[in-house]
Amino acid sequence: ARAQSMEITEKPAVAYTDIGGIDEQVREVREAVEQPLAEPELFDEVGIDPPSGVLLYGPPGTGKTMLAKAVANETDATFIKMAGSELVRKFIGEGSRLVRDLFEMARERQPAIIFIDEIDAIATRRTESKTSGDAEVQRTMMQLLSEMDGFEARGEVRIIAATNRFDMLDRAILRPGRFDRLIEVPEPDAEGREQILEIHTRTMNVSDDVDFAALAADTDGYSGADIESLATEAGMFAIRNDRDEVSHQDFTEALEKIEEDDSSDVVSSA
Ligand code: ATP
Repeated sequence: ARAQSMEITEKPAVAYTDIGGIDEQVREVREAVEQPLAEPELFDEVGIDPPSGVLLYGPPGTGKTMLAKAVANETDATFIKMAGSELVRKFIGEGSRLVRDLFEMARERQPAIIFIDEIDAIATRRTESKTSGDAEVQRTMMQLLSEMDGFEARGEVRIIAATNRFDMLDRAILRPGRFDRLIEVPEPDAEGREQILEIHTRTMNVSDDVDFAALAADTDGYSGADIESLATEAGMFAIRNDRDEVSHQDFTEALEKIEEDDSSDVVSSA
């Protein structure tokens, strides 16, 4: 059961060029995670320790997991992912045990990137959480921090965490030596959405009439994940209409369908 809660990938199939609209964040992650792994001597020469842990925060579906996978790919590091919610366990000591296993696995497979998604599940401010499992969750968090304190800053295991709820985080995890490099991954702007559209249609047979800039302008508030669904939906329209080429109209119809589905969600949940 323990191994099941971890996702281990030898070489995740994500490249930096698959990530659109967040070039600055890619640059920051490379500096904080890739460079210490690839060129540790730079840090030795200057005499500083690289950031201990990197925290990616921002709305869902904006590319945080992709970023972590791309660094692992680029550095030939094993990618080990665990969701914070998996670390919340019923039995005493079980969460801490999982954290120890996680770091042990990373040391065995180094170079490795540990990615903890939804870190907020174990690092919520105490005033915010009222659940009875509180003390146990707190212990799991302490175990994580102590593992981080214990490993070599210039070593071959790097840790990245992600959250959609930065405001709820226990500030203790942000202290120096812990998650001391914060990188905000925002919703994409129009230019970013256009880049993401281009990425997700790279392998699609799209007709010349598709106006990516116009579609980007019409998708305000869409995340990268939303744009990926839009591209797939447009492809479905082409198939439905017996075409092997996806037209601009397929995209606009897909957009309409998504907007309709969204508004009926609101109605049905009201
Ligand atoms: P969550 O907070 O929900 O875990 P996340 O920020 O980790 O989300 P990802 O898992 O990285 O989001 O993205 C989900 C999918 O959406 C990706 O597999 C990708 O197809 C698409 N996507 C998201 N952001 C981008 C982006 N910036 N560029 C290209 N594709 C993106």
